[in-house]
Amino acid sequence: MCEAAETAVQSGPPAYLEGLMANGKGAGFSTRAIHDGQEPEALTGSVGVPIYATSTYAQDELGKPRLGYEYARVTNPTRDRLEKNLASLEGGLASRVFASGMAAVTALCTMMKSGDHVVCTSNVYGGVPRLFNQVMVNYGLQFTYVDTSDVRAVERALRKNTRYVYVETPTNPLMTLSDIEAIAKVAHKRGIELVVDNTFMSPYFQNPIALGADMVLHSTTKFLNGHSDGLGGVLVCTKKEQAERLAFIQKSAGGIMSPFECWLVLRGVKTLAIRMKQHDESGRIVAAFLDGSKKVKKVFYPGLASNPQYELAERQMRGFGSMITFETGSLSNAKKLLKRVKVCTLGESLGGVETLISHPASMTHAALGAEGRKKIGITDGLVRISVGIEDVDDIIADLEQALAAL
Ligand SMILES: *Cc1c(COP(=O)(O)O)cnc(C)c1O
Repeated sequence: MCEAAETAVQSGPPAYLEGLMANGKGAGFSTRAIHDGQEPEALTGSVGVPIYATSTYAQDELGKPRLGYEYARVTNPTRDRLEKNLASLEGGLASRVFASGMAAVTALCTMMKSGDHVVCTSNVYGGVPRLFNQVMVNYGLQFTYVDTSDVRAVERALRKNTRYVYVETPTNPLMTLSDIEAIAKVAHKRGIELVVDNTFMSPYFQNPIALGADMVLHSTTKFLNGHSDGLGGVLVCTKKEQAERLAFIQKSAGGIMSPFECWLVLRGVKTLAIRMKQHDESGRIVAAFLDGSKKVKKVFYPGLASNPQYELAERQMRGFGSMITFETGSLSNAKKLLKRVKVCTLGESLGGVETLISHPASMTHAALGAEGRKKIGITDGLVRISVGIEDVDDIIADLEQALAAL
């Protein structure tokens, strides 16, 4: 076997883990983020995971591909490394990465067949109901939207043909939490799987699988990559059948993450823990500032003691993160604020090192329509902020001068 072949994914636990496992201890989060799937390459010792920029692989003889690598839609060593890393961070069995978060949701849909039903959080990322209602219904899939913060409402919505309960917690943009453990119980009683979109918390603050979820989804575009410079999505699996089927879907449908983007995420996750700590610390400070401002009518942030779900937040998450939504009172107030901010960048997306500020009604949730937004409580005065890791005093000074115009 060619030496280079060893550069591909190594099987078994990484060498550093053997020592830790001998002590009966597993490695901590940051150690796994930096080392799982990120082992030095065997050929040169390259500490950075190489980007395997190739579409195909030379075969030694007919029917003998090296280490099984035949074509890059099917497998790529950079991608294999990332899939191993993200599975470790979420405590899953395996993971499969896709070209975007929405490509991961699409892959999930292709796990179903016509006539299957999904119970979905009513206040999810706007692109999800767009995909479900305007594309997937054409293939006979059925969707029911409920307020999943009410477990009884989830239970009532379950049907004989329900295949998945799809929960986003905290939700975008209202930061409503759903009790993952309780929902997993009612779903499992009927043999239904629970899928949790964990994008807002990242695996550093919340691990849905440990609470009973069957699959975890992320838009890696956000906190996992963390630098607003690449798109991606992942489905973390707990069962062999899920992982095998999703690998088949990668091969058949082709919506895979590119090797370069895989490398960006591998690089990004190395600092996930320290970034999340800072996002959380600054998030709490900015939320408290907004909560105390006379110009702000209401603040949606699970870390405020006044938040009705504070207790669940403390039980289910290890931090509160940096996603905050607040009510400015009107569209014209929101417009004025967004025009005046300078440190905060007006733009869609979240989870980057830079503070991003947006207007859900006209940006991320425009596709829902005025009626749809009203139903779930997204007003024209709402502003969402993804607090970055700039100096928090600068972020607050910026918000203060912008709020003064209201
Ligand atoms: C951004 C986002 C998505 C979609 O991910 P893309 O990478 O933009 O396709 C899904 N869920 C949540 C919570 C998101 O924030």
